[in-house]
Amino acid sequence: MIIVLKNGVAYEEVMELNEWISGHGITASPIYGSGTTVIGLVGDTSELDKDVLAMMPCVDKVILVQEPYKKSNRKFHPENTIVSVNGIEFGGNKIPVIAGPCSVESEEQIILIAKEIKKSGATLLRGGAFKPRTSPYSFQGLKSEGLMLLDMARRVTGLPVVSEITNPSYIDLFNDYVDIIQVGSRNMQNYELLKQLGQLKKPILLKRGFSNTIEEMLMSAEYIMSGGNENVILCERGIRTFETQTRNTLDISAVPILKKLSHLPVVIDPSHAAGLSYLVEPLTLAAIAAGADGLIIEVHNDPKNALSDGAQSITPEQFHQLMPKMQKVSEAVGRTVL
Ligand code: PEP
Ligand code: MN
Repeated sequence: MIIVLKNGVAYEEVMELNEWISGHGITASPIYGSGTTVIGLVGDTSELDKDVLAMMPCVDKVILVQEPYKKSNRKFHPENTIVSVNGIEFGGNKIPVIAGPCSVESEEQIILIAKEIKKSGATLLRGGAFKPRTSPYSFQGLKSEGLMLLDMARRVTGLPVVSEITNPSYIDLFNDYVDIIQVGSRNMQNYELLKQLGQLKKPILLKRGFSNTIEEMLMSAEYIMSGGNENVILCERGIRTFETQTRNTLDISAVPILKKLSHLPVVIDPSHAAGLSYLVEPLTLAAIAAGADGLIIEVHNDPKNALSDGAQSITPEQFHQLMPKMQKVSEAVGRTVL
């Protein structure tokens, strides 16, 4: 941290500030320029409140030289982290594809979709059981029964399953029945939930909040990792912008930015980003070209009658057509999906 002082600050004021800083166990090294004095802070400054410092009458501005996220930071872990789920690797050369319905609706529905996506080359099955819906009158999911049906689909197809947790009280249930626990956009800053997920070993798919910055997302990853669970997969799923043509705007630049800032794998969700099924294919291909380490795509056998997110769901047939195209783009960037 560097503190830039206002021009003409008296020597006594600099000394007073130095003393206050030293009182926090941090070494303050002032550099006196002809007009401006700056103080370099050496030591762990994480406990210092930057805004409190910036409010002091002699301070012009405070500059952070290190990022507040440590465990997820590539600076301290230069190699890519590989998160493994039953032998499927996120962050390696092969790009895993998670596919399935927004919500688990019935045994027939989830088994049928699981079999179809497996035939096309998907590596994991998704399905929401506890649904965080905008309206309390919308379908809320089959809850624990939905998880049991996912478990059944896993046994039938061998595909590991991904499902969203909405409340810390369900952690034991998810730990027992789900292979990757998804933290949805609405819960990215549910810190009590994140802390408890940090106590598990299970991989966590952490979705970016639709109004959150990349740094806030990495700080949420930090909550999970600092608890001891370093199996975090980041997921960009679109952010809120002024554009009304799409449900959200896919922040494609988040892929290379996250890959630069962090060593964690990055997955793209084109379905929630677009909100419209015809956009899923171009966004998926763009995600692979941009360097994504995985995809999570909503697939439904009967989108127009889906109990949630039908408009953005592609059919198993469309998914089947998409996979070879994904393979071609992957090969162009030296990777593979199949
Ligand atoms: C979902 O995956 O169905 C979901 C609700 O996602 P998000 O949290 O990204 O809206
Ligand atoms: Mn959905």
